[in-house]
Amino acid sequence: MPTNSPLRFVIVGGVAAGASAAARARRLSEAASITLLERGPDVSFANCGLPYFIGGEIKQRDALAVQTPQTLKALLALDVRTSTEVTAIDRAAKRVQVRNLSSGTTETLPYDKLLLAPGAVPLRPPLPGIDDPRVFTLRSLGDMDRIKAAAAGASRVAVIGAGFIGLEMAEQFVHLGKQVTLVELTAQVLPPLDQPMTRLVEDELRKHRVDLVLGDSVAAFEAGDALTCRLASGRAVTADLVVLSIGVRPDTVLARDAGLTLGKRGHIHVNGFMQTSDPDIYAAGDAIETEDFVTHEVATVPLGGPANRQGRLVADHIFRPAETKPYPGALGTAIVRVFDAAAGLTGWSEKRLCAAGRGYRTVTVNDNHHAGYFPGAKGILLKLLWDPTDGRVLGAQVSGLAGVDKRLDVIATAITGGLTIDDLAQLELAYAPPFGAAKDIVNLAGFAACNTRDGLVVPIDALPDDPAVQILDVRPPALVQAHPLPRVGAINIPLGALRARLGELDRTRPVVTVCALGKTAYFAARILAQNGFRVSALTGGIRAHFDPRSPAKLPTP
Ligand SMILES: Cc1cc2nc3c(=O)[nH]c(=O)nc-3n(C[C@H](O)[C@H](O)[C@H](O)COP(=O)(O)OP(=O)(O)OC[C@H]3O[C@@H](n4cnc5c(N)ncnc54)[C@H](O)[C@@H]3O)c2cc1C
Repeated sequence: MPTNSPLRFVIVGGVAAGASAAARARRLSEAASITLLERGPDVSFANCGLPYFIGGEIKQRDALAVQTPQTLKALLALDVRTSTEVTAIDRAAKRVQVRNLSSGTTETLPYDKLLLAPGAVPLRPPLPGIDDPRVFTLRSLGDMDRIKAAAAGASRVAVIGAGFIGLEMAEQFVHLGKQVTLVELTAQVLPPLDQPMTRLVEDELRKHRVDLVLGDSVAAFEAGDALTCRLASGRAVTADLVVLSIGVRPDTVLARDAGLTLGKRGHIHVNGFMQTSDPDIYAAGDAIETEDFVTHEVATVPLGGPANRQGRLVADHIFRPAETKPYPGALGTAIVRVFDAAAGLTGWSEKRLCAAGRGYRTVTVNDNHHAGYFPGAKGILLKLLWDPTDGRVLGAQVSGLAGVDKRLDVIATAITGGLTIDDLAQLELAYAPPFGAAKDIVNLAGFAACNTRDGLVVPIDALPDDPAVQILDVRPPALVQAHPLPRVGAINIPLGALRARLGELDRTRPVVTVCALGKTAYFAARILAQNGFRVSALTGGIRAHFDPRSPAKLPTP
């Protein structure tokens, strides 16, 4: 039951985690004194919407101000102080020192419980020329206004970093008619995802004339009439405006100076109830290190959903501790739209599992986002990872032109519920032709995973270079001609003719079956395996590996 304690709850940082904690705290206690201290001029704004106002997709700036100090005061009776920075914490006296950034005055405020929700700051490495006023980062409404104003007079824009925010910015600058160069250090966009799950997004960027520079980084900015981004490769990218989106670091100076325990990378260490090493000081959001949901190892997940729920949990633990369950850990579920495409992930990727030395198995399946015969069906690609010891789902990545969010959300829920690949195969999901398929791609991933586990098929992730291996392309000849395999020497026998033409294959040599989407290659592999061949099937088909826009329709055998 909520209490009516006259407790003094002071919150540092008034956006995602801080504002959530304040609102929940008030709903649990009408008596508490709740003070929200925010360094910037705005509270509770939608930072996730900033790129879309710059690009003009969100038309009203006010739409981003989810709440204002006035509405928070009126609705929640909060003491909201903007342009107010907390400069020090006196843990022994349980007081914070605050400075009013408008007047320069300072004062101390007592607290019974303190929440640190200071967020993160965009990385700005000390590169030559980085202080040029045409180099921007995006975190606040003020940053947004400055970028929008600079974009009005710019024709060439360079976005550095092809993570989630960099991709959103590139997309929005294209909407504004700018000539966009997107530079990314790694060999792919969306570094947290595995290749080839990012191919569709890369293809979509190029289709919209974004100059995509992969495997390169900015070494220096050279000022002139325009700004030249000198890349590590020596290449020069000329731009009127540069947006740096290469990651964030936690804003934890206050916590460090107060002697709170920090993690290896400077994040505030918290327990399951978001308490720091001082139990009266909580921390939440981008500034903390939390647990990975699957492995319970330390994880840092700078995302809006976790920040909001952690803030809410802090208020719960303060005002109704007995009923509060600990934070279960983060999955890192994230998604981005890039023009007509979308891609995202939940849980563990293959590259993270490899790096951690954890055992896993994986399949990639292709299908349509709803019944293929219903107008408007769009291709969707799903990569599933699971634990070989118990079949538990560890993670998934999805890319496609529609329905990506729904599949990520189903699998995020499956991971949260501890479901296995057998459970995915049996999930009963909403189906009518405009919405899904009788066997949704999530079911297909479960089927494919179970088939792999049960030894019915040996999936293979790439075409082997070994000349002893026979590559058997089972697509109809017309499709093979239209979209040839980037490999000489493949044998083309369409699935429907395979049983009659088995004699054309050498039984002493291994076979890899290949098709457009992966399904027909599996069917062919089953025929061959039952006829004594050593066979594996290319998982995800050609669309996943070579041509993300190859036809979504299954070829007629
Ligand atoms: C452009 C952009 C797009 C994004 N898109 C998405 C998305 O689509 N999906 C998603 O999940 N996440 C997204 N995020 C991430 C998400 O916004 C953050 O994870 C979330 O806002 C973190 O919440 P927080 O409360 O920890 O920090 P913030 O929301 O950043 O709030 C921290 C606040 O604390 C204030 N502060 C810091 N120190 C002090 C101090 N000493 N005194 C007073 N105030 C202080 C700061 O001024 C800041 O306003 C996006 C972020 C950005 C910038």
